Amino acid sequence: MCGIVGYIGGSQAAPILLESLEKLEYRGYDSAGVAVYNKNAIEFAKSKGRLVNLKEKTNNGEDLKGIVGIGHTRWATHGEPSDLNAHPHLSSSGRFAVVHNGIIENYISLKKKLCDKGFEFISETDTEVIAHLFEYYYKGDIMDTIIKVIDRVEGSYALGVLCSDYPDRFFAVRKSSPMIVGLGDGENFISSDVAAIIKHTRDIYYLEDNEIVVLKADGVKVYNTDKEEVKKEVSKVTWDIDAAEKGGYEHFMMKEIEEQPTALEKTISPRIKDGKIVLDDISLTTEDIKKIRKIYIIACGSAYHVGVVAKYVIEKMCRISVETQVASEFRYCDPIVGANDLVIAISQSGETADTLAALKEAKNHGARILSIVNVVGSAIANASDDVLYTWAGPEIAVATTKAYSTQLSVIYLLATYMADKLGLLTSGEYAKLIRDLQELPAKVAEVLENKDKIQYLASKFFNCHSIFFIGRNLDYAVALEGSLKLKEISYIHSEAYAAGELKHGTISLIEDGTLVIAIATNNDLFDKTVSNAKEVKARGAVVMGIATEKNDMSEVADYEIKIPDTSDILLPSLTVIPLQMFGYYVASNKGCDIDKPRNLAKSVTVE
Ligand code: GLU
Repeated sequence: MCGIVGYIGGSQAAPILLESLEKLEYRGYDSAGVAVYNKNAIEFAKSKGRLVNLKEKTNNGEDLKGIVGIGHTRWATHGEPSDLNAHPHLSSSGRFAVVHNGIIENYISLKKKLCDKGFEFISETDTEVIAHLFEYYYKGDIMDTIIKVIDRVEGSYALGVLCSDYPDRFFAVRKSSPMIVGLGDGENFISSDVAAIIKHTRDIYYLEDNEIVVLKADGVKVYNTDKEEVKKEVSKVTWDIDAAEKGGYEHFMMKEIEEQPTALEKTISPRIKDGKIVLDDISLTTEDIKKIRKIYIIACGSAYHVGVVAKYVIEKMCRISVETQVASEFRYCDPIVGANDLVIAISQSGETADTLAALKEAKNHGARILSIVNVVGSAIANASDDVLYTWAGPEIAVATTKAYSTQLSVIYLLATYMADKLGLLTSGEYAKLIRDLQELPAKVAEVLENKDKIQYLASKFFNCHSIFFIGRNLDYAVALEGSLKLKEISYIHSEAYAAGELKHGTISLIEDGTLVIAIATNNDLFDKTVSNAKEVKARGAVVMGIATEKNDMSEVADYEIKIPDTSDILLPSLTVIPLQMFGYYVASNKGCDIDKPRNLAKSVTVE
């Protein structure tokens, strides 16, 4: 969500900052700004709307002269998107400029205190209190001031700070909001994520909460809040620069849809050795697994839908009770969770604020935390007892595809691993699952070949006002994701229903011509779902069916999409592919901004 960049080195800062901010555009934003030191003064420019406005205003950054600067894309939380509310925010004297991602929860009391002291506020943001607090506490020692400011503010923040008394350096600090440091040759960077700086460097510092970073052109130092220097390890970014580029595709989303076979291969194959699942990365022993009383899965959005699949899969295979909860609910429901429970936190970015908070809540109750994340060194990874990484590479499109798919594959690996350790699989069942897991990337590639048919179907239905998805069991879990994918990028109202539940209310919404996508890949429940599809058809619905090759839906479906057969538990990985493509092509037919859907942000780092 939103972005921060910072640069210090030998080149003009503003053009580099603007180019880096472009790489963060995918995270979602509504205004942008940059600030630089011009000799001993701070100059800035900010603009509502897309970055192109800021580029025009500053002549691509060339009008802002200076070799040190900070930049920001804002996703408004406090105050409407406007030039005035855009960051950077300056202190009254103009000595400090601040860019901030996150939310200052106690800003009202701080604002009142500062107003009483005579400070004047010009924006509606929570962030402006930080700029004034800097001014208020500054007595000539910048480190003391940073420490005081972060001690006073509550909430989440990634901060980039300029102080005109120190034009040879700038400062950064984060808490519960993402930010990394990039180490270059004679130049150094901060950024919300790797995508913005990979062009310049692959050497990264990941930051702990409240580590204070002082960046100069010739070096970076990191301190704790006792002003002691912290020795940081340099991490190397391994993925290729092309991974964060569109590479000839019109949208990142389609590129990422097509990257799924490779991402799955990278996630699955290193964890299968000599016909066995090997989870070297985690310390969960057979004894630990046997002791698990209950598993909680906490996540948001599509990752939550992975959790819904996981509930069916883990309960079926491991016979352990699983409760999947939306993280923003879990954190405030006084959960009955304790030392014998395993909590699985799922998040692409590893920075999702609600998931992180829910995880901390579970940890406070003594639960063991296993996380499934895509970003190494992220806050959720750092806060977990064990981490299973999805090796999906950077995901840029707001609507997740390859992260969702790789998260699913990790769930299959984990469930199969645990079921085996619990002695719940025959050697034949285990061997078949391993084989099917290994074949999954190729089968996903096979489904992707259906592109033309899906494109045709999307061209027929992109004018619908409302679309329903139905399915039972795992098919219901995938229906949830198919519906979300469609609505988030095409803005068509859609709902996912457990097929048997429709008649308890929602069927009243079905009228002549309503499109219902009936997912019926589950062999045992095929007839049941077909019956539900017949119920809606009898009320005028047009039915698009999705089934495996061995089942025939033609008696009810006006249109049918086939997927290859595999082990039952793995079917969601194949079923979701046509639904992702359907969402994409519907949105494309409607001319929507597919990679940056309205109001949405990529990694949601605020509550
Ligand atoms: N809460 C701040 C604001 O509304 C920062 C939002 C952001 O993270 O971009 O200005």
